Amino acid sequence: MPQLKSFGNLSLENKTFSALAFSPCCARLASARKLFRIRDNLDSIRIAVIGGGVTGLILGLAALRDGYRVDVFERSDSITDVGAGISFDINAAKVFESLGLGDVIDRISYRSKTSTYRTHDTNKLKLFLDYSNTSGKVMCLRAEFVREVAGLLPKDQLHLGKKFESLQQHHKLVTIRFKDGSSYAADLVIGADGINS
Ligand SMILES: Cc1cc2nc3c(=O)[nH]c(=O)nc-3n(C[C@H](O)[C@H](O)[C@H](O)COP(=O)(O)OP(=O)(O)OC[C@H]3O[C@@H](n4cnc5c(N)ncnc54)[C@H](O)[C@@H]3O)c2cc1C
Repeated sequence: MPQLKSFGNLSLENKTFSALAFSPCCARLASARKLFRIRDNLDSIRIAVIGGGVTGLILGLAALRDGYRVDVFERSDSITDVGAGISFDINAAKVFESLGLGDVIDRISYRSKTSTYRTHDTNKLKLFLDYSNTSGKVMCLRAEFVREVAGLLPKDQLHLGKKFESLQQHHKLVTIRFKDGSSYAADLVIGADGINS
């Protein structure tokens, strides 16, 4: 994905937000709010998030809860996250709670003080992690977590089958173009397309 760095007055690091770094994401949204303060209605500020993985979906939800008009564009035709389990620290769980995901986390996760990693074929123990001196980890099925978060975004703001191809920055707007020939104009574009971002 091309560099997504400076849009209008807002400078974003060209960075994929880690699943464990939602607080900085929220801080960036707060900065965006200040930079766009000349507008009365936050929902008139259109944020486009490229990528509907864990980061893009959570970021979309955070922007939505903050009052922005946010649209998430995912290249796949469905939200079917691969992978088995996902774990995150208690501080990440607190951020999820602040986004209204507390009930979801309680329902689909459990807390653990250890993690055990084994090879898939021989079941040989590869790694054992002991978190007993910490608050532990929150563990859940990754696909379930992603499905729950995706379900909280308005259906017309989560766009599937939209493979980002290019963008063009105008004076105040950025026009994004997708592989299917469609386009979308946004005030702010955030790349959350994973390791290739
Ligand atoms: C084996 C393994 C275990 C892990 N375990 C954990 C863990 O326990 N806890 C944890 O916090 N992290 C874990 N991670 C790391 C975690 O998976 C990543 O940090 C996380 O997936 C990053 O999320 P993301 O949304 O940034 O990227 P991704 O999950 O890669 O999502 C990117 C999304 O962007 C979409 N996309 C890509 N290109 C385009 C395009 N051109 N147009 C539109 N959409 C596009 C993709 O289809 C995808 O849906 C693990 C990683 C691995 C490999």
